[in-house]
Amino acid sequence: MIVLTLSQICQHLREHSSCSSPYELESIQLQGEDIYIYQLTIDSRHIPKHGMFVALKGEHFDGHEFAQAAVDNGAIALLVEKRLPINVPQIVVPDPQRAMGEIGAFVRDFVDPVSVAITGSNGKTSVKEMVATILSQHYSVRYTAGNFNNEIGVPLTLLRLEMGDEYGVFELGANHKGEIDYTSALVKPSIAMVNNVASAHLEGFGSLEGVAAAKAEIFNHLDDDGVAIINADDDFSEVMRQASNKHQQLTFGVNCSADVMAKKLVSDPLGCYRFELHYDGQVCEVSMPLTGQHQVSNALGASAICLALGVSLNDIKAGLHLLSPVKGRMQPKILGRVRVIDDSYNANPSSVAVAINWLKEIGGNTCLILGDLAELGDNARALHAELGQLAKQSGIHNVFCVGDLTQETSREFGSQHCTDIHQLSNYLINYINKLPDEVTVLVKGSRSAQMERVVEALTVAY
Ligand code: ATP
Ligand code: MG
Repeated sequence: MIVLTLSQICQHLREHSSCSSPYELESIQLQGEDIYIYQLTIDSRHIPKHGMFVALKGEHFDGHEFAQAAVDNGAIALLVEKRLPINVPQIVVPDPQRAMGEIGAFVRDFVDPVSVAITGSNGKTSVKEMVATILSQHYSVRYTAGNFNNEIGVPLTLLRLEMGDEYGVFELGANHKGEIDYTSALVKPSIAMVNNVASAHLEGFGSLEGVAAAKAEIFNHLDDDGVAIINADDDFSEVMRQASNKHQQLTFGVNCSADVMAKKLVSDPLGCYRFELHYDGQVCEVSMPLTGQHQVSNALGASAICLALGVSLNDIKAGLHLLSPVKGRMQPKILGRVRVIDDSYNANPSSVAVAINWLKEIGGNTCLILGDLAELGDNARALHAELGQLAKQSGIHNVFCVGDLTQETSREFGSQHCTDIHQLSNYLINYINKLPDEVTVLVKGSRSAQMERVVEALTVAY
């Protein structure tokens, strides 16, 4: 972060606070000299040098209870909702989370990088990593670490910006309406992209149309002369065209005609693709080190973003070639004759459909290991049943499920259901041991299902 004094932070919050009237912002009383803040943090256990601790409140915790620990661990100031009996300077605000967002926006305005905002139901992290990798070849780029894409993660990312950062690449996620409107207002993008719209977090949005409207909020704060990046293959591309019709638009597509296109796709035995990238009469050959056809779509989206920023096709090609899989995202592990694809980080119905399709394309002995998909609302059981049908139609050899909702998947597929991870791992290992040849096992489920435990069991066994 850039170095700020406590009174600069306070003054900024007074002048720009959208959280409420400035009367509710209780100023700090400084005795003697002002103090310098090098970073804000929400983790009381890890306080950086000259760190200020932000006391956030969640459903199950209250950061104010950890403020003393934060000070014991070195915090030199606090951003709190109520003044605490602790002897360090404190800025008291009505909503520390919002205040942190405003300080993040202040840092963003000060550093003023060219900002890219990426949302979508699937592939945000993949596209973000691709764009950051391409740009980092020649520029200083700050980008979302891991999956810090919500109302807390985006401000924390903005707070990491340093003087001299030329580009900021931000992943914006949402599980409720208004979240992307809020985070994109902080980011102020020059390029805004909706990668796709699918049935993720349906609980918070009610319907697919609700998901699309929430994603389209990303265009609310796009620069007047900014560019909207639209997936021509997506069912909601027309909605996105309408939502960004005041802006310049650049489309990408594998199947539909678009400004940025992939042609002549060829896949290797691991499902990694080579293809021709077409843009504005130019062509270059790209080979992807990541597996799955969805990564071709993500690479086109990332290319469209970079082309809008003026990057050459050659630099895009070179950048895409540098990629490597992210942990728990279609990460291949070869364990003798067992090929494990660790996709355990997260899941929703459309990403499971992608996984099933991937197994179908790979062929041979194929097995899907699935845990419950969370946050699907009233339709959850029906959606899990559909995945069982899809798996059956696809011709993949076996499906092992664990969880409550995946009972529907097991029933539709016609496989035995497992009551816990331990039982599942044992069934799976027995099943593999009876197979004479190579087998491909893809492990997937929502974060809460912790399906990486199956990958760990396989790693011990083989
Ligand atoms: P999250 O909402 O968890 O942050 P994300 O949008 O960042 O997810 P990624 O982490 O890039 O998405 O990918 C997660 C999974 O989604 C992948 O492992 C893959 O199964 C699937 N996926 C990625 N890209 C696409 C795509 N373009 N279309 C459909 N599914 C995809
Ligand atoms: Mg992500």
